[in-house]
Amino acid sequence: MSTASRSDSMRGGGRATGGQIGFLGLGHMGAPMAANLVRAGYDVLAFDPVPAAQEQARKDGATVVETAVAAATDRDVVITMLPNGKLVLDVYADLLPAANPGTLFIDCSTIDVADAKEAAARTVAAGHRALDAPVSGGVAGAAAGTLTFMVGGAAADFADALPVLEVMGGKVVHCGDAGVGQAAKICNNMLLGISMIGLSEALVLGEKLGLSHQSFFDVVSTASGQSWALTSYCPVPGPVPTSPANNDYQPGFATALMTKDLGLAANALRANGIDGQLGALAAEIYTRFNQTDGGKDFSAIVTDIRNRSEQEVTE
Ligand code: NAD
Repeated sequence: MSTASRSDSMRGGGRATGGQIGFLGLGHMGAPMAANLVRAGYDVLAFDPVPAAQEQARKDGATVVETAVAAATDRDVVITMLPNGKLVLDVYADLLPAANPGTLFIDCSTIDVADAKEAAARTVAAGHRALDAPVSGGVAGAAAGTLTFMVGGAAADFADALPVLEVMGGKVVHCGDAGVGQAAKICNNMLLGISMIGLSEALVLGEKLGLSHQSFFDVVSTASGQSWALTSYCPVPGPVPTSPANNDYQPGFATALMTKDLGLAANALRANGIDGQLGALAAEIYTRFNQTDGGKDFSAIVTDIRNRSEQEVTE
């Protein structure tokens, strides 16, 4: 494993792969990522089927093209930032025959590990190079160019991609072979989902037992129950002023996205025969919450636990 931070090299400097980039998927994440590449001086051909996304990319200085294939033609690097693995595989089926031999495909979407491996295998079989490079850091990190990239693929391809990824990210980690970047992403988010549920259950139990949120925080934040979910992202208002709980649970990291990532983790648990009971249960708990509150920050699960507890007591 190797890591790099932007301080290790000049932002956008040393373009080992050349400066011609195709960028597909200009949504919440892709739009600001592509804009940062344009700002760093890369020549970006951008494609998204949604007119509003095209318009924004034009304003950001990218050259918007009419088809996915056009965005991947005569490019050194093709970046995808798409909603799911099926779409990545479908789009790759069109792009791979059209791209110049040896094009470096970097998929930044969050998708199944199995789909990521399949996409990489097909890319290499078509005579190109492939990396999976999912991100954490959300829309704010995409806009600021401070995303964390978790990268799977060959070391030489990682080295070539580094200058490009460093434009969009504050930290870039080479995690291993194809698919292992996605593995890092879903393992982290599975742990985060489980720890947010556990923390929320403890907070609601504390409420019932007369323990104030601040007292809970003061003790647990320096005791063995301490977690990032508590100290950086406390799911109740007060102790951590920047957490979404203080802003009526506006995301942040939306419940819909946590639900998606936990679904990917649950798939991977099953596919690999892991006895991951908490991971599977966390996926179920968030799937249920997502049906009513998918737009809220995922830390709002504490309100669901509180509401359901009150119902159970009164029933
Ligand atoms: P989004 O839905 O806002 O954007 C996806 C974009 O892909 C849309 O603009 C859509 O029109 C476009 N698209 C669909 N089909 C296309 C095609 N054939 N060619 C080109 N573009 C196409 O989603 P997002 O929030 O930007 O997330 C993108 C990916 O990043 C997802 O896999 C998500 O799980 C992951 N992610 C999101 C966040 C976040 O906070 N939003 C954080 C980390 C990772």
